Amino acid sequence: MRRLRIELKGVVQGVGFRPFVFRLAKECNLRGYVINDSAGVLIEVEGDKTEEFLRRLHQEKPPLARILFQSVEFLPPVGYQDFEIRESQEEGKKEVLILPDIAVCEDCLKEMQDPEDRRYRYPFINCTNCGPRFTIIETLPYDRPNTVMKVFRMCPECEREYEDPSDRRFHAQPIACPMCGPKVFLHPTGEEGEEALRKTIQALKNGRIVAVKGIGGFHLMCDALNEETVAELRRRKRRQEKPFAVMFKSLEQVEQYAELTELEKALIISPERPIVLVKGKGGLAPSVAPGLKRIGVFLPYSPLHYLILSSLDFPVVATSGNLSDEPIVKDNDEAVEKLSEFSDLILLHNRDIKRRCDDSVVKVVGDVALPIRRSRGIAPLPIVLPFKLKRKVLAVGGMLKNTFAIAFDDKVILSQHIGDVENLSTLEVFEESVKDFMELYEFEPDVVVYDLHPRYETTRWALSLDYPKVGIQHHFSHILSCMAENALGGQVLGIAWDGTGYGTDGTLWGGEFLSCDYTSFERLFHFKPFKLLGGEKAVKEPARVALSLLLELYGESALSLDLPSVKHFSQKELELLLRAYSSNLNAPLSSSVGRLFDGVASLLGVKQKINYEGQSAMMLEDMYDYSVKDTYPFEVKGSFIDWAPTVEGILRDRENPSLALSRFINTLAKVCRYVAKEVDIPKVCLSGGVMQNDPLVCKIKEELKSFEVYTHQKVPANDGGLSLGQAVYGGVDVKL
Ligand code: ZN
Ligand code: ZN
Ligand code: FE
Repeated sequence: MRRLRIELKGVVQGVGFRPFVFRLAKECNLRGYVINDSAGVLIEVEGDKTEEFLRRLHQEKPPLARILFQSVEFLPPVGYQDFEIRESQEEGKKEVLILPDIAVCEDCLKEMQDPEDRRYRYPFINCTNCGPRFTIIETLPYDRPNTVMKVFRMCPECEREYEDPSDRRFHAQPIACPMCGPKVFLHPTGEEGEEALRKTIQALKNGRIVAVKGIGGFHLMCDALNEETVAELRRRKRRQEKPFAVMFKSLEQVEQYAELTELEKALIISPERPIVLVKGKGGLAPSVAPGLKRIGVFLPYSPLHYLILSSLDFPVVATSGNLSDEPIVKDNDEAVEKLSEFSDLILLHNRDIKRRCDDSVVKVVGDVALPIRRSRGIAPLPIVLPFKLKRKVLAVGGMLKNTFAIAFDDKVILSQHIGDVENLSTLEVFEESVKDFMELYEFEPDVVVYDLHPRYETTRWALSLDYPKVGIQHHFSHILSCMAENALGGQVLGIAWDGTGYGTDGTLWGGEFLSCDYTSFERLFHFKPFKLLGGEKAVKEPARVALSLLLELYGESALSLDLPSVKHFSQKELELLLRAYSSNLNAPLSSSVGRLFDGVASLLGVKQKINYEGQSAMMLEDMYDYSVKDTYPFEVKGSFIDWAPTVEGILRDRENPSLALSRFINTLAKVCRYVAKEVDIPKVCLSGGVMQNDPLVCKIKEELKSFEVYTHQKVPANDGGLSLGQAVYGGVDVKL
């Protein structure tokens, strides 16, 4: 049983929403309350059917109600006796905030499908309840002349709607119609409007690849059932195995290809329209997500997507339009220049995209929705802190999956997903985006916070600025971000496991047990460091990690073992690696659990070389067997957790990879239990990219039943959430 806390904003007052919530809660046998507040509606329900409640809240809401955004948190129950409608709180102060882009609403969809309506089949239909926001605003206040819509002069009919307080489009800034608004057209063939749409749809049916301009950038689209086409898209994009997201026309269509839980259904139909990572049932082209059971699914969110998808009887791959490792393409010229080589046609339109915004990604981990990427539909909504910050902070984030943040008062505004800031073009986009935020919010920081890694581009950039600045350790900021979004005070035990982050001793950390408050941390326990042979190369080639573990265990004789990790290398490579190992040349030490997972994947013959970050971890996650209950031994030596007995156990079981992997995950959870008992701090925070592993997090929660365990529900556990922790650190008490 759990408690669900839902905050809703949008048209949720004066439309019969509270009586509806009351009825639905009763039907689902839930207890709690509903209340109107200045920002919208707040609901708390507890009982067994909270997830059904959440799904039906969207599916059965009163016809006039519009949910523009929601924040959902699963919490421990508090023992409500009944369900009640509570009296409204006083009017609070209205916040000036920039809304995210909102998926097209049902009213607009209905009009778009009505041949009598003047916006019949109009791809840019919107109203006050839906449409683009964040991606079209140039400056505040949010008025039409301050958006990219300023170039379209409203026709008399649109103007009348815009001025009429009783109209659904009263002051809808992006208001438009076929007479006066944006238009679609095809490159290179030049068709416009309906004809452009018709050709796009025909091309998709014929197995062609089409680039389509969306809300925050371009997608590359093609038939997700057609293996030849999807494989061709991979060839053109030079993207070997990283999974593609798939867009479906309806929830019913998703259910033909995936097994969905109630919570997953609620996420798929939520107004944010994220990509949801769910368990596939097969049927899609094998090249959509090679070697993985999970697939990324989402529904159309712009009217243009609806027009395309509703004419197709198959789902489409919808992957961001970019060269690999480069930012998503957003401008027409750029699209023609960069996407022509990937696509047979480009469906353009003349409404500019002011700023890029990639699709958001979410996954259910340990029974709650964990954001993997917090972007379109969510950014730039603030994270509200339980306290006020002492100064204004610019937090630059990490290197991979970068987001940055600006923070003031009790709010942290995280940027949209920027991407991996590891080359010039992404650094440029990062810089531009920071500048964009500072202008948009008229923001000057009192302090700039950066990650301690001397080779992060974002760190170098921060150090070049003229503001006071302070660095923070990577895993400490992971835990602070988990504390902040859960509104925790005092001291916590932070379990921060990830790929790697720079430690205060110059080694690469990533298997950390830290005691933390908002101002400082202590490294209590960590996994025994091992050598990453070849440094960065070991990240891409898990066999190097495995070989390092074997050398540590068996010395030079490891090189003659009959194991996939050894046989992966030639004799000459083995000699070079041995030399690196013994001389410590280009073999940095790491305590990373992410890398341990890689090593295990290699030892079990699952993956020797990876194609994209996190690949082996995702493949291992699929192999977990919930019926396996036992563990391997581990040893504690001082502040070290020694993995040697664990790895020996894995080697003994290597003929049965699923068993070995399951016992490995169970062992990691047992290690958490050991440390938590030893340290004895009641609150435990889980963060870092490894904490996106569903069976691992479930198991840890099980082992830590007697503790209060907190995970992420608002920002990613991966490096996309770092900027929140950094922002809080800079704003709390740090000495400058
Ligand atoms: Zn609408
Ligand atoms: Zn018009
Ligand atoms: Fe990290």
